[in-house]
Amino acid sequence: MRYSLRTQISLTIIAIVLFTVAIVSFFSNQFIRQKFEDYIVEQQRMRTLDIVALLENRYDETTEKWDTDFIHGVGMYALSEGYIIKLNDRNNVTIWDAENHDMSLCSQVMNEISARMEKKRPDFGGSFISEVYELDQKGQQVGMVSIGYYSPYFLTEHDFQFLDDLNLVLFSIGVLSLLLSFAAGTVLARWIARPIAKTAYISKQISDGNYAIRFEGKIKTKELDELVSAVNHLADALDVQEALRKRLTEDVAHELRTPLTTVASHLEAIIEGVWEPTPERLQGCYEEIGRLSGLVADLEHLARVEGDNLNLIKCPVDLMDIAHWAVEHFHAELKKKGIAIVIKGQSAIVLADRNRISQVMTNLLSNAIKYTHNQGMIHIVVKNEDDHGLLIVEDNGIGMAEEKLPLIFERFYRTDESRNRRTGGAGIGLAIVKSIVTAHDGEITAESQLGRGSRFFVKIPKS
Ligand code: ADP
Repeated sequence: MRYSLRTQISLTIIAIVLFTVAIVSFFSNQFIRQKFEDYIVEQQRMRTLDIVALLENRYDETTEKWDTDFIHGVGMYALSEGYIIKLNDRNNVTIWDAENHDMSLCSQVMNEISARMEKKRPDFGGSFISEVYELDQKGQQVGMVSIGYYSPYFLTEHDFQFLDDLNLVLFSIGVLSLLLSFAAGTVLARWIARPIAKTAYISKQISDGNYAIRFEGKIKTKELDELVSAVNHLADALDVQEALRKRLTEDVAHELRTPLTTVASHLEAIIEGVWEPTPERLQGCYEEIGRLSGLVADLEHLARVEGDNLNLIKCPVDLMDIAHWAVEHFHAELKKKGIAIVIKGQSAIVLADRNRISQVMTNLLSNAIKYTHNQGMIHIVVKNEDDHGLLIVEDNGIGMAEEKLPLIFERFYRTDESRNRRTGGAGIGLAIVKSIVTAHDGEITAESQLGRGSRFFVKIPKS
């Protein structure tokens, strides 16, 4: 059984709040009840002490008489509060007794209290008891009072009402929290789940080949924003790859068509006797076939260096030696274009495949020559850094727009959209360079400014 993220988040939040509200309500109810009962017990103790204090003062020592009117008032008031009073003088003669005074009222009060407590607290197990207190004046006992009440304590109708109200408030808070948590859970779940669902939909679209789709809009959650950006980047990358793939097919077709058409039309004309097979014409065909072979060789070469089976035969190689060798190799072309070349830096020995690294150098230098005007300038710098050798090839040629830089290492990519064949390149050289450098766990980067020149950096680890 699979639930939606939204349902899971909502249910989890509601379950947590339900649990928390239940626990908090239970414990706060218990705590408040306990505290309230402690308070009631203390109140009742204070009340009995008050009664004792009031009665003590109502004995007149000089006349040896009790103020019976006042005692009657106190007794009746105490009775209405649930206390049954019996006052005896020091000779144990009863001065005032609630039960004698109004037996039926006393029974009524006692019955009401017992019935209320038994109804509301069936397990309470309370009963009426009486406690006897001495009444003293100036250290002399003047009498004694017995105070009967429901022990250990009793609650009035108002007290029970107060506890019921309190429970109602706690219950209302619980219900309100649940409603709020439900609303918050739903909003939160939607907030989290909606972008995820949308991202899932977009990923599905991407996997179906719709690379133009993007997640629009801002997301405030950091992780979700990262997820969405990653998916958008994936779509960007696939879009670029798709465009390159299409271009690759177009380019291969284009590169093959031009020389093939030229050779076919020349040969046709010769076969039909329109043209004499002069050495110049055959030379033209031969050059076109040479161009084709070159392209196929480039493709083969690329397939080899891009494949998993690029076996590197590593040995210590001095990048400075390679630089000198390459300059020697391009001597004629440099001279032809009148380009000045300077090699700077120190020797840097790295563990690499000499032939492959020579190929890197050759491709970079041949590009620098190709894209530099006559009488231009090329610098080759070799640096011996901590854990790698650094090779820099810099020219002051035509350069490239910055936005093209990330693409130049792609197969068949040429910044010159018109595909001017004059330069002779098919856009494979840098793809080969990148594959070789990557196979050496190295790194290649480029900097360039349109019209001012380019600079390529190759890092090859020493081990
Ligand atoms: P190509 O065979 O076309 O030179 P590369 O893969 O070697 O193919 O280079 C890809 C593209 O990068 C080139 O078509 C060119 O537009 C650009 N490029 C490479 N090197 C340079 C450079 N030194 N100066 C300016 N543009 C360059």
